[in-house]
Amino acid sequence: MTKPAKDLHCDVAVVGAGVVGLAAVAGLALAGHQVTLVRREPAPPSRGSDPAWDERVYAVSPASRTLLEALGAWQLLDNSRVAPVYDMRVYSESELHFGAYEAGIEALAWIIEQDNIAQALEQVVQDSGSVTQVVAEVASVDLATDFYSASLVLDSGDQLQARLLVAADGADSPLRTMAGIGFEEQVYPQRALVARLATDHGHRDCAYQWFGAHGILALLPLPPAGPGADEGRCSVVWSAPTALAEELAQATPEEFAQRVQAACDGALGTMTALGPVLGFPLRRRSAASLLAPRLVLVGDAGHLVHPLAGQGLNLGLGDVADLVAALKCEGAPDGDDPGRKLRLLRYQRSRALPIAAMGTTTGALQQLFDPATTAALGGLAGPFVAVRELGWRALARAPMLKRLLIARAIG
Ligand SMILES: Cc1cc2nc3c(=O)[nH]c(=O)nc-3n(C[C@H](O)[C@H](O)[C@H](O)COP(=O)(O)OP(=O)(O)OC[C@H]3O[C@@H](n4cnc5c(N)ncnc54)[C@H](O)[C@@H]3O)c2cc1C
Repeated sequence: MTKPAKDLHCDVAVVGAGVVGLAAVAGLALAGHQVTLVRREPAPPSRGSDPAWDERVYAVSPASRTLLEALGAWQLLDNSRVAPVYDMRVYSESELHFGAYEAGIEALAWIIEQDNIAQALEQVVQDSGSVTQVVAEVASVDLATDFYSASLVLDSGDQLQARLLVAADGADSPLRTMAGIGFEEQVYPQRALVARLATDHGHRDCAYQWFGAHGILALLPLPPAGPGADEGRCSVVWSAPTALAEELAQATPEEFAQRVQAACDGALGTMTALGPVLGFPLRRRSAASLLAPRLVLVGDAGHLVHPLAGQGLNLGLGDVADLVAALKCEGAPDGDDPGRKLRLLRYQRSRALPIAAMGTTTGALQQLFDPATTAALGGLAGPFVAVRELGWRALARAPMLKRLLIARAIG
């Protein structure tokens, strides 16, 4: 006998349990909304005392830290596995230095494993009394169920009716497609390779980045393996031109470590592999709108940016902070309806500039240093590189401008 389908109701339904979706659930529940989380997989079991390393790490900005603290998630992180970044050194033909001390802030960022953040948020969601979790896929969406709500039909046959739907279902967002929201896409002629390496020399809490014919190579500091252990461990994100990326993807982890060592001219001494090499396609995407009636997009569902500035997740957490703020409007005539158009428009307006600025800056930097750009310039490549170098040197000697850039990156 088949189970009869259920009719579920809530204020807000969040689809997707990535870091952005979990943060949205935690933030909206904390703001007093009754939230249902629709997720593909049940919450994973707790990580235990010494879990394996998650190769996916994020540079979490001070603004994201503020949000995670307000949600009560920062306090639940495994602190022994968080590495602060006090300095950043960026090299093209010459060196640029950004320092937390000069900028008057505690740290430029913190490097944290995806699992560490997700687990802390899972705990917050679980401890909240107002969140219902449903393990299902979304089969279809109806954005105009009635004047007051939209609804999701789940693959179980159950129907979930909500005042507001939040699509946090990633770059290929099924909900965005079902809502008929299009997007613009640019496929970068690069692929990212990510790995964890041990290094001879300590990183001194500094992140390094090299722009060149090899693409964009970043070394992010990782915490030491245990108390008293060497600090020489880092995570590599190498955004390599497609042909080189294909070649690197064939290499063993040890060969890959040697290639990284050569590409950064042995900046941190001899390098050895600590895990596998993972590959990611690189695209820029922006949704035509962050809204449909009674639906909003957050995180990669709304925008995808090049990882060269380590800002994709930070941008998604910014969406969450602004969404929670936009839905709050004390004394408004529309009462507690979180799906009111005015509130959603306020959310979209607050995100327009940060999303456009990040997409444009990362896209422009990628292009500025893409060997394909210089190749396409033919005889003008020499003057182009000279002007680029001049700008780089000018920036290196402009502390005010650097402070401004840092403020943009962390805000
Ligand atoms: C190489 C690399 C390095 C990066 N480094 C950084 C960094 O240092 N700092 C930073 O800020 N960002 C970084 N990013 C960007 C960051 O990874 C993303 O922006 C971030 O993971 C997006 O999170 P999300 O929750 O929006 O999406 P996702 O992590 O993709 O989560 C989406 C979730 O939705 C679920 N889902 C999908 N469809 C459905 C459905 N139909 N029903 C239910 N659930 C569904 C998925 O299973 C998944 O759990 C990097 C990206 C890359 C590629």
